[in-house]
Amino acid sequence: MTPRVDEVCYRDAYVRALETRVAEVAATDGSPLVVLETTAFYPGGGGQPADRGTILRTADGRSWVVRTARRIGGELVHELEPPDDGELPAAGDVVAIDLDWARRYALMRTHTALHALCGVVWRDYGALVTGGNMEPGAGRMDFEFERMSGELVGEIEAKVNAEVRSSREVLVNVLPRPEAFAIPDLIRTKVNLLPEGIAEIRTIEIVGLDLQADGGTHVANTREVGGIRVTGYESKGRINKRIRIELTD
Ligand SMILES: [Zn+2]
Repeated sequence: MTPRVDEVCYRDAYVRALETRVAEVAATDGSPLVVLETTAFYPGGGGQPADRGTILRTADGRSWVVRTARRIGGELVHELEPPDDGELPAAGDVVAIDLDWARRYALMRTHTALHALCGVVWRDYGALVTGGNMEPGAGRMDFEFERMSGELVGEIEAKVNAEVRSSREVLVNVLPRPEAFAIPDLIRTKVNLLPEGIAEIRTIEIVGLDLQADGGTHVANTREVGGIRVTGYESKGRINKRIRIELTD
């Protein structure tokens, strides 16, 4: 039986390297798949792309490129770039993992920036989020926001920048499901669409601004976001509007 993977990124987003052991290797005809006992890789989800990085075998310094990570049957699996010589790590090998940190940290800043945007749009305009997506340094959010306009978007940009520059703490919490449901504003993030089987709900709180059920990785303080710029907005129908942002530094 495969041991349960210790998934560090959900409790500490700042772990970028660690040593662990290979639990299982599957040499598929596409990308080789590796399960590790402990990992810092984020497998993607909630609009945040999966991490990239490397795995290095400490015994001989041989390394492999992790081109993505994802869940297969609930298990966090690393997808390797197929090596030219076909050599793969083996179960039991001690390896050092190293994330592409510049990319991951940009995703953390972007993700927190998008939550700050959600927080401002909810607090000041009462608009619900319907979706979102991001890449390192840029992202978009969709809102049920009938009266959005170019003028309003400028106002939103200024408000989001004021919030991220006011150094708000960003907290991760894991709550029992009934406790999560008791938080009124959490409902707007569609927590009620989570499968019945989930006993605990992870939340991300930008203290004093925003609280959402979320599985992503975030910076610990909004000042790490820097600033944002709204790069576009568009109508996706009478009610649904999309706002695009990018990080400015
Ligand atoms: Zn999120």
